[in-house]
Amino acid sequence: MKKVDFIIVGQGLAGTTLAHSIEKKGGSFLIIDNCTKATSSFAAAGIFHPFSFKRLLLSWKASVFIPSAISFYSSIENKLGKKLFSNHSLYRVFSSIEEQNNWSLKQTISAYSTFMGENISKDDLFNKIIRPFGVGKVEGAGRLDVTKYVNESRNYFKNKGAFLNSAFNYENVIQENNSIIYKNWLASSIIFCEGPKYTQNPFFNYLPHNPCKGEIIIIESAELPNKLINKGCFIYPLGNNRFIVGSTYNHRELNYNCSESGKNELLKKLSSLGDFKYKIIDQKAGVRPTTKDRRPLIGSHPCFNKMYIFNGLGSKGVMMAPFLSIQLINSILNDAEIDPEANISRYADDYLKLTNQL
Ligand SMILES: Cc1cc2nc3c(=O)[nH]c(=O)nc-3n(C[C@H](O)[C@H](O)[C@H](O)COP(=O)(O)OP(=O)(O)OC[C@H]3O[C@@H](n4cnc5c(N)ncnc54)[C@H](O)[C@@H]3O)c2cc1C
Repeated sequence: MKKVDFIIVGQGLAGTTLAHSIEKKGGSFLIIDNCTKATSSFAAAGIFHPFSFKRLLLSWKASVFIPSAISFYSSIENKLGKKLFSNHSLYRVFSSIEEQNNWSLKQTISAYSTFMGENISKDDLFNKIIRPFGVGKVEGAGRLDVTKYVNESRNYFKNKGAFLNSAFNYENVIQENNSIIYKNWLASSIIFCEGPKYTQNPFFNYLPHNPCKGEIIIIESAELPNKLINKGCFIYPLGNNRFIVGSTYNHRELNYNCSESGKNELLKKLSSLGDFKYKIIDQKAGVRPTTKDRRPLIGSHPCFNKMYIFNGLGSKGVMMAPFLSIQLINSILNDAEIDPEANISRYADDYLKLTNQL
């Protein structure tokens, strides 16, 4: 038997971040991933920012997650010797006078004003962006190149001998004598990070799910400003006149195919920002591991206490993954508390009812 502290199933954003967090704590691990391209992480735009713009509210724990994410990804850049991450200001183009007023109101609240930059004057360079109600500047935003983060990390884990390219077979895993046995591996714990595919995991498929398909397009345009802009959609400058335009949210068609309707929806949103000449270069689609209560799914199985899940990162995975991965590891190693809003103990009764134990 080969021994490790942890087996990690799935190496998207969640599994990658968890593995780096385990390594920071000095733990050993084996990652098992089937290396499919159809994942949430390979479609992700990778942007993070502190707000939910619909009603201009701060996102859940943004002031905790963002500093943690910035320092975490910087440390991984240093470890891998690769550029993965960048800080940005984000420019929110207001769609009404009400939104502009709400923005001014929120600027008087210190929790909000920390993330709000100075007002934007009419002369600032926004090229042809239509902005009759003005623009608000958001600080504390940025982007992780998620595809590069996952791929570079995968190479790193392979070189360590800690990566197995294989589909995980749930029938071969058992918890025995407070250990996990999987084929010829013996581990103290197993952590499942399969993204939206956790619904196929017989140990955790009792958890409620509400997956959401998303699509982005990559365009080339000489007429867009070199800025991260948000209004209905976001536009992210990749350099060399290339931009990501995203994202769609679709709870009905849960597949990984790029669609005409997704593309047209994004182009319509783009046109509401102005009349630009552009060329479409690429399109990507994925399914987000979103949840009914919009909170992550983290913690140990109600009966098999050496089996854990790290999932439900939804549409804010980049911002949440570092802090929450460390919280999960601390709970496994030191019995520290997992945020009750993220802890799957909130669904323990569902499991007990389902298995006639309650
Ligand atoms: C279009 C789009 C845009 C997005 N934009 C953003 C954004 O701007 N900012 C942001 O923060 N988030 C964004 N997201 C959300 C983000 O992608 C997710 O939060 C995150 O990638 C989820 O990562 P994950 O590791 O949980 O899942 P996944 O990325 O799906 O990874 C799961 C991994 O597990 C593997 N796996 C599954 N089952 C098995 C098995 N049985 N055996 C072996 N391996 C298995 C898969 O192959 C995969 O590698 C976006 C998502 C989409 C679709």
